[in-house]
Amino acid sequence: MRAAVFREAHAPLSIENLSVDKPKGREVLVQTTATGVCHSDFHFVDGHLPHRGGPMVLGHEGAGVVEAVGEDVTSVAPGDHVVACLSGFCGTCDQCLDGHPNLCTRRIVNRGRGAPSRLRLDDEDVVQFADVGSFAELMLLHENSLVRIDPELPLDRAALVGCGVLTGVGAALRTARVEAGQTVAVFGCGGVGLSIVQGARIAAASRIIAVDQFDSKLEMAKSFGATDAVSSNDGDAVAAIRELTRGAGVDHAFEAVGLPHLVRQCIESLAIGGTATIVGVLPLDANIEFPWVAIRPECKIQTSRMGSNRFRIDIPRYLDFYRQGRLQLDEMVSRRGRIDDINEAFRAMKAGEVARSVLLFD
Ligand SMILES: [Zn+2]
Ligand SMILES: [Zn+2]
Repeated sequence: MRAAVFREAHAPLSIENLSVDKPKGREVLVQTTATGVCHSDFHFVDGHLPHRGGPMVLGHEGAGVVEAVGEDVTSVAPGDHVVACLSGFCGTCDQCLDGHPNLCTRRIVNRGRGAPSRLRLDDEDVVQFADVGSFAELMLLHENSLVRIDPELPLDRAALVGCGVLTGVGAALRTARVEAGQTVAVFGCGGVGLSIVQGARIAAASRIIAVDQFDSKLEMAKSFGATDAVSSNDGDAVAAIRELTRGAGVDHAFEAVGLPHLVRQCIESLAIGGTATIVGVLPLDANIEFPWVAIRPECKIQTSRMGSNRFRIDIPRYLDFYRQGRLQLDEMVSRRGRIDDINEAFRAMKAGEVARSVLLFD
C-alpha cells in the first residue's frame, strides 16, 4: 500500500510502498477514505517534536471503512464506517475507570516492543504516529483507537472530528465547560482554534474574541461564530481584549498554537475568576514567565488533552451537532488533495492559508 513516510525533520515526506501485516487479536484493518492534515503531524516536520529515528507514517485524523478484523475484535465488523482517534485507551487503568480515557496510562493500542511491526518498508520496521498512521491507504490499528459512526455521514468531514474538532470543541465543552453568557478569547485560529470558537458558540458564549496574526484566519473565525477579531499584528492583543470587555477581561481564554508568549497573553487577558485553558502543544523545554500581578484573583490555569474526550461518546455526539447544523464541518475543509499532495498541504498550513486540508484515497 502507498503511504507518506517521514524520516527526518526539515525534509519532505516521501511516498513509498509499504507492506501491512494481517490484523491479530483486537486489531482492525481499515481502508482509509480520508485524512485530515493536523499541526501535530507538521510538528515532526518542523522539528518542534522530537523523533527517535527510523521511518514513520504520520497522520492521525483518519476515517475509513473496516476491511478485516482480528479474532478478538467485538466493537466493529467489516464494512463499518469508522473514525480513528489518537486517544486509544485500555479501559482498565485508573484514569480510564475514572472516566478519563483521554489520560489513559497504559498504552495497549500498539503491539509493544519486540513484537513484529504492523508496517514494513523493505526490511525496516515502520512506526505509526499515535499508533494510527493515517497518511496511508490502509490503517492497521487497535479497536480501542476507533469509533464506529453512522455510514450516512461523509467520511472526509468525519475524519476531522477524530482530532482537531474533538480537541477544540472538547476544550470548550468538556475541559473548560464554557457556560451560556460567558466571554471567551481564542488565541490562534487554525483548525483547533476554529473548533474552540465553534465549541464556545455551541455553548452559547456571549462574546467570542478571536486572536490571530493572519487576517484570513480572523475572517474564517468570524464565519465560525467569533463575535470579534483581534489582529496580533496590531499591537497589544491583551489590551484589545480588555477594551472589548470594558476592562473586565474574559471568563475563558484558550491557547491553541503552542507558543509561550500566547500562554502568557491568555493569562493576562482573564477576568476575575477566569480560566486559561492551554490546548496548544508547547516545546518540551518551554518556560512560561509572567508577572504575578497579571493573575487576577481566583484565576485558574489548566491544560486540555485532546479536548478531555471520551471519544467513543464525543465523536458521534459532535457529528450529531454537524447533522443538526450546529457544528460547521463543510466549511472546515479548505482544500482536498491526494496523498501525493501532503507536502503542499504542510506548506499551506504553515502559510495560514487553510483551516484544514483533507487528503482523499480511492
Ligand atoms: Zn491532531
Ligand atoms: Zn487506560
